[in-house]
Amino acid sequence: MSFGQKDHIPGNVEGTVVRMGTTAHSKPHACWARLLGTAILVWFGLAAIAPAPGWCWGAVAHGLLARAAVDRMPGPVGDLLRANRDFLYCYSVLPDQWWGSPDLIPKLPRGLENPSGIIGIREQGRHHVAVDGDLYAPLRDPRSGLLPVMTRDQARLLFKKHVDREGRAALDRFRAENKWYKGGLKELPQAMFEKAGELPWVTVETLDELTRAMKANDWSRAAFLATVLSHYVGDTYTPLHTVHNYNGQLHPNPLVKGIHGRWESGLVENFEDRFVARLAKTTRAGGPPAALDGPEGVAAQVFRTVSESCSLVDAMLDQEDEALKARHPGVTVVEKGQWGQIYDSVYYASFFERQGQSCMDRLDASADASVWLWRVAWERAGRPEPPRGFKISIPLLLIDWRNNTIVPFDPNVGFRRDP
Ligand SMILES: [Zn+2]
Repeated sequence: MSFGQKDHIPGNVEGTVVRMGTTAHSKPHACWARLLGTAILVWFGLAAIAPAPGWCWGAVAHGLLARAAVDRMPGPVGDLLRANRDFLYCYSVLPDQWWGSPDLIPKLPRGLENPSGIIGIREQGRHHVAVDGDLYAPLRDPRSGLLPVMTRDQARLLFKKHVDREGRAALDRFRAENKWYKGGLKELPQAMFEKAGELPWVTVETLDELTRAMKANDWSRAAFLATVLSHYVGDTYTPLHTVHNYNGQLHPNPLVKGIHGRWESGLVENFEDRFVARLAKTTRAGGPPAALDGPEGVAAQVFRTVSESCSLVDAMLDQEDEALKARHPGVTVVEKGQWGQIYDSVYYASFFERQGQSCMDRLDASADASVWLWRVAWERAGRPEPPRGFKISIPLLLIDWRNNTIVPFDPNVGFRRDP
């Protein structure tokens, strides 16, 4: 989330350091700053089993996505969600705060709890899946790149077999790469599985929770879970949530390191008007409702989406490399604190020219996918009728992690303000 400092260039990332002349002050993107400041470095060491950290699209992007989905949702559930549009807008980024601001989560009102019960760093792995990780990559279709649909148990079994095969060597390697790990061989398969990411299963499980809430006619919970589901759906459409090289850290151009925040937050926040216009245009155009599918169809679609996301990463990295080389010929290192000079508005214009369309496409598609899954839940629940004009009584609040406090959220201002 960004509390909109005027000079703030979102997505600037303290990833690459050294030499670039004069000083320029730029604040790192909030999401990224949290990463550096908190357990990301602990949880995601240098894994061979491909962790991509559970960064968010960013509060602005998740908010725009949720609002667009609400606007597109047909039928009585659409009416219900529109009556609570600000609620979805405000809390669409909450799942990232379950791991990012664990100290503040217990202070939020009842009704905003993670359905899994998880608060803290274990939640982070639920926002990504490394499709190209060591154990998943060999399973992908060589032509389409699709990772086959797996249940959690099937995926866990891969890690169990790996540990059975490698024994103590697997444990030593994992411990060396993850200093936080205190478990033994017995717990290792689960730890490796969680580190590789749980996003596809979490998405499907959240859909099941939403279905149950609708079936029970618990509409406050249903609206909340629709919000949560749109968050995880958004993450499945974010390319850097699906790869080992989740931050460009393995790219030959060291300036590419830090691309994660620049793509999914920086582009959106620097060109918010363009994103808003694009989402609105699609919403106005309407179009035929997506066909609903059976239970297998949902998992297949989620796995297809993460595989597609993964396939977009190489072009994204190379195009940022191009944008950086065009903007800063010959520069390969940046002095600490001078991100603003490298990732400045000219760079962002160049990066947007190359990747803006793809970024808008993914956000737009994730709004459609959210609508689709909300409709699936409603159909599975037996099309229950929500009460007309139902308003959730939970107040709109924003986590101000910089000041470690909770502040009122003003939907007219959104996420861009100083609390
Ligand atoms: Zn997330």
